[in-house]
Formats: sequence, structure tokens, C-alpha cells
Amino acid sequence: MNAKHTRSQERILKLLKSLNRSLSAQDIYVELRNRNQTIGLATVYRSLEALKQEGSLQVRTLPNGESLYSSMQQDQHHLTCLRCGDSILIDECPVHQLERDLQRSHQFKIYYHTLEFFGLCTQCQLKTEVEI
Ligand SMILES: [Zn+2]
Ligand SMILES: [Zn+2]
Repeated sequence: MNAKHTRSQERILKLLKSLNRSLSAQDIYVELRNRNQTIGLATVYRSLEALKQEGSLQVRTLPNGESLYSSMQQDQHHLTCLRCGDSILIDECPVHQLERDLQRSHQFKIYYHTLEFFGLCTQCQLKTEVEI
């Protein structure tokens, strides 16, 4: 499937794999520039859209509406604090079997799933109690 990718798409995929964390389109743009790979921001967005639709990367949207992109291997979930924005990685995936079942029962090719929990982290709970 790599043969179909444009050079920009290849660069983005390589970057995401090497960094192994989630990046916004803006971050990707900056990181590529830091590596002397000049690419327009519009091209970054276009490439990300194409890669997303073919299932080559994962997208997760933060409470502030920002989209974060990461390479495909990760099946990771987070506890995200609505106050400080901190994201805590949780080490397990409770819906693995569900995904397999849905794929079979609906004959739907599932690329990935997202599952996130929102609330207050320990620190922010303490702060909230003090304020009350
Ligand atoms: Zn917090
Ligand atoms: Zn999962």
C-alpha cells in the first residue's frame, strides 16, 4: 500500500512512527521543518486527511477541539483531565473483543477505535475541594 503514498504522506508516516506519540497538524508541520523537510501546512492537512481515510493513522480529538494524529500500531486509551488538560495513558484495552465481534457481525472493516475518559485528575480534585 506504500506505493500509493505521495512523498508528503510518506514523510508524515515516518515522522509519526519515529516519534511514537500523538501530534497535531501544526506540530507535524513544525517537526518536519525542523528536519529540513519543507512542506506547506495545507499539504500537511491534505495528507493527514488522505491517510486518515485509508486507515494509516489514528486521530483523537481533545476537549479543546484539537486533533492529534498518531501512527497506527497504538491501541491506547487515556484519562483526560478537563481542567488542566493532562492525559494519563491507561495500559489496557477493554474493547478488543468487542471490536472483533462487531467486525464479524456487521462485516465492517474496523481500522481503529477511540475510547476516552474525561474528568478531574487527582491534583485538580484537591484544588476543587479547597475552593469549595
Ligand atoms: Zn487536572
Ligand atoms: Zn483499544
